[in-house]
Parts: sequence; structure tokens; C-alpha cells
Amino acid sequence: MTDGFGRRVDYLRLSVTDRCDLRCRYCMAEDMVFLPKSAVLSIEEMATLSERFVARGVRRIRLTGGEPLVRRGVDELAGRLGGLIGRGLDELTLTTNAMRLAEYAPMLAEAGVRRINVSLDTLDPDAFRRITRVGDLSIALRGIDAAREAGLAVKINMVALAGLNEDQLLPMLGWCAASGCDLTLIETMPLGEVAEDRSDHYVALHQFIAPLRDRHALFPIDRRTGGPARYFGIEGSPVTLGLITPLSDNFCASCNRIRLTVEGRIYMCLGRDDHVDLRAALRDGGDVDGLIDRALAGKPRAHDFQIARKSQPAVARHMSATGG
Ligand code: SAM
Ligand code: SF4
Repeated sequence: MTDGFGRRVDYLRLSVTDRCDLRCRYCMAEDMVFLPKSAVLSIEEMATLSERFVARGVRRIRLTGGEPLVRRGVDELAGRLGGLIGRGLDELTLTTNAMRLAEYAPMLAEAGVRRINVSLDTLDPDAFRRITRVGDLSIALRGIDAAREAGLAVKINMVALAGLNEDQLLPMLGWCAASGCDLTLIETMPLGEVAEDRSDHYVALHQFIAPLRDRHALFPIDRRTGGPARYFGIEGSPVTLGLITPLSDNFCASCNRIRLTVEGRIYMCLGRDDHVDLRAALRDGGDVDGLIDRALAGKPRAHDFQIARKSQPAVARHMSATGG
């Protein structure tokens, strides 16, 4: 699959639910309203569409959400998609908050998942509670241990949040080095209303990593994942550091991804509202391939995020609805 700007699209992010057991303050409002069951694709429908995408050239699928591990039947879905590995699909991965990882890690490994991303914004239990509103850090850490025991490689995703976790970068780096995890930092993006002004917590990554740069030299690593991160080695540390800077330096030129929401919509860009709806076509025997072609043709060159003080979100949709 190639879009209108000649970018090859071979990476599907599949949001398996818009629900979550946490309420991270940069991601969700405290009183989120979730989709009714009738609006949501069944596990069977997700598997069918995923198979269609693999037949069209998708090589990697990432299960995400919301929190993918709260979706009933996620084990069945992972097993079914895992069966595509080596038959068109190169890799099945997952992004999770780790709350249910202790329970699900063996199943994921069994399904053929080899590496996962875990969102962990701090190692301070109080700050963890403050950021996630309801989370217990010790449960996340137990989940990560279970993943490692099951043989899964773990990359930590940490959203940079002014006033909430700026003091946590060096402890997180030390912990990642000791635990054998890589670390990717993410700038907070203006997606959906979250009850507070995101600009209050926005910090550009070059500023967030200043304390690290003061102590260690960073050197660029040529690791092409087609993803949005730029990678760096850290002198004196085994950790590979990824930087995702949608605001301060966008990465759209190499975007290789397509996002399927739990409602069956393809959003061609996180930061735009245009989409095509596969659910009706799938349920009524319509032209799913034709809609996929239309989505590819409509993939925009770039998002236009801005974090101006008191600005509106770029889109009303939360990250959890599109699939982060
Ligand atoms: N619940 C899972 C998790 O937290 O890993 C998967 C879904 S979550 C939406 C995926 C990623 O998006 C997480 O790493 C989270 O930190 C990030 N995220 C959510 N809202 C964001 C925002 N507004 N700006 C930047 N990153 C965001
Ligand atoms: Fe849930 Fe992930 Fe959003 Fe946090 S970032 S509220 S864990 S979906």
C-alpha cells in the first residue's frame, strides 16, 4: 500500500478498545464516556479486517487502545493474529499500561509477541497516582517483571510532563539500564479534552533531556523503524533512547502507519479528523478494499499540532479512541 505522497504504508495500529483501567491526565478526562458495545468491532471483525490488511501488505501490527488488555477476547485476537506471523506478517506487538500484564504476558509470548511497549511516566508511586489518577505503580512493575520472565523485550514509553515528571528522567534511565529496557520519550499531544490545559504540562524534549545531556553524551543511532522516534545511544549506558517530538520537530515525512479504531474507522493521521468507515462495509458486504484505497489516497502530508496556551485540541478525539 502506497499513499498519495509515495510513502509505503505497512504498519497497522489496531485499537482493540477505547476503554481503560487508568485515567492518565494527558490522555483522558476523569469522567470519560466510552463507546456502546454496538459501536465496537467484534474480535472476529477485527481479525477479519487485520487479515485483509495483511493481504494488502501490512507487515507489522500493534495492538493498542485504550488499554488493550482490558478487552475481553484479546487473547483470542492475539492468537489469531500471531498465526499470521511468517505468512505475510513480520511482527505482532502491543502497547500497554502493564496493569494486567502479569496475567497476560505468558499468553502474549505464546501468541508470538516478542516485544512490547509499556507506558510508565514515573517511578515515584505518588507521582504515578497523580498522573494516572487511579494507578498503583507496584502493579505496573510486577507486570513488567512478568513480561521479562515470559521472554518479552520491554520498551518503556514516558510522556514528558512539565511539573509532573521532569525530575524522573535520570531515575527512569537508571532503572531501565538495570532492568534491560529501552526508553522512549514522547511530547504530549493536543488530542481530546482532558479537563486541564495541556499547555501547562507541555515541555519540549530538548528541554526535558537537558539534565541528561549535562551528564552524558548522546550520539545518534541509525535505527530505521519507519516509526516516529529518532534514536540515540547514551555514553556509559546500555539504554537506547528514543525521542518522539510531534510538536517541536514533526516526523510526518516518513510516516508508514495506518490506524484502525475499535469502531472500524481508518484514521490516516492521529492529528486529523478525516477517516473512512469500514464497519458498515464489513457488516453489509460492501467494498472494504475500495475504502482502504480511498483512505490511502487521503493520507495527509502532515499533522498541524500546536500547543498554544489555552488552545483547542487539534482534534476532539482522544488518543485512546484513535489508538496510541
Ligand atoms: N493504554 C496503553 C498505554 O498507555 O500504553 C495503550 C494506549 S495509550 C493511548 C498509547 C500511548 O499514548 C501511551 O504511551 C501514552 O502515554 C500515549 N499518549 C496518550 N495520550 C497522549 C497525548 N495526548 N500525548 C502524547 N502521548 C499520549
Ligand atoms: Fe489508559 Fe493508556 Fe490513556 Fe493512560 S495513556 S489513560 S493507560 S489509554
